[in-house]
Amino acid sequence: MLSLPFVWSDDCLRHEPEAEIWVGTRTPATEVPARAVAIRGSLLAAGAREVAATAHDDSALLAVHDPALVEFLHSAWEEWSAASLPSDRVVPYVFARPELTGGRESATPAAVWARPGLFAYDTMTLIGPGTWEAARAAVDVALTAVDLVAGGEPLAYACCRPPGHHVTHSLYGGSCYLNNAAIAATALLDKVGGPVAIVDIDAHHGNGTQELFLGRGDVLTASVHVDPGAGWFPHFLGFASENDEGNLNLPLASGARDVAWLAAVQRAAQFATRANALVVALGVDAAAGDPESPIEVTPAGYREAGRILGDLGLPTVVVQEGGYDLTTIGPLVVETLTGFAR
Ligand SMILES: [Zn+2]
Repeated sequence: MLSLPFVWSDDCLRHEPEAEIWVGTRTPATEVPARAVAIRGSLLAAGAREVAATAHDDSALLAVHDPALVEFLHSAWEEWSAASLPSDRVVPYVFARPELTGGRESATPAAVWARPGLFAYDTMTLIGPGTWEAARAAVDVALTAVDLVAGGEPLAYACCRPPGHHVTHSLYGGSCYLNNAAIAATALLDKVGGPVAIVDIDAHHGNGTQELFLGRGDVLTASVHVDPGAGWFPHFLGFASENDEGNLNLPLASGARDVAWLAAVQRAAQFATRANALVVALGVDAAAGDPESPIEVTPAGYREAGRILGDLGLPTVVVQEGGYDLTTIGPLVVETLTGFAR
């Protein structure tokens, strides 16, 4: 039985992207509300204690993200839906690349349909009714878990949805809108003291988190993920060549199994030993059978990863990132937390 608290908000279910635009094609969304429902069911069945998320002000959110991004996400659906556009979701068609304006700040476009290009870096992260409410609720979920840990809980799990680790200071993408793990780390820095480590074991590189904290020293970032050089999102970064004192990328070959993956998790844990508190960005999409990645971790592997990270003995907030197989996502989260809490 799991005795830890997990934080939940019904509002995290309000985001229903329905689709992604991938290589120009509308494909069914995989980041669906049923993911969070499945996790909650497994946690309750395992005996974890549900704690309702409480409202938090924007201070930790705005310490991480550009106010212009936050304002855009807040108003995007309302503006889009009022403009009677042919798409039923906010989607960019043109991108404000800095080279387009010689590095000068881009103008704010008059056209509502051009505005997403200021803040989106892909076409697969759609905004619809409820997207803002869910993304903002996920921040409250993460911050409530921080409060529990700051109040003395050794471990709290934040059932965040949508996920967040692909979001930078001012750009959203990768099915993510606000960087829940980064916001949790910033709040932990304030409440528990640093340095704080973020260990990201989602199958994909935590590119947003890396870029937010690169060169800072007070938040250490480590990410275990499938090699972007093998053709995987986020494609442009996540390589070992980006490593420095405060950032550790551990890219793995497609097809990596427990032994290689756990060795990387162990290295990430070793990197985090100098931290005062820990955020685990827990994606369970590295599992064998997950449709979104070629890494082949078993449930026992997830349990062992939990044990390795739990052995650090740090106050820890576990934030949910990816995981797209609805039949195994809940059990895999439970496996990881069971290893942790052992
Ligand atoms: Zn992922």
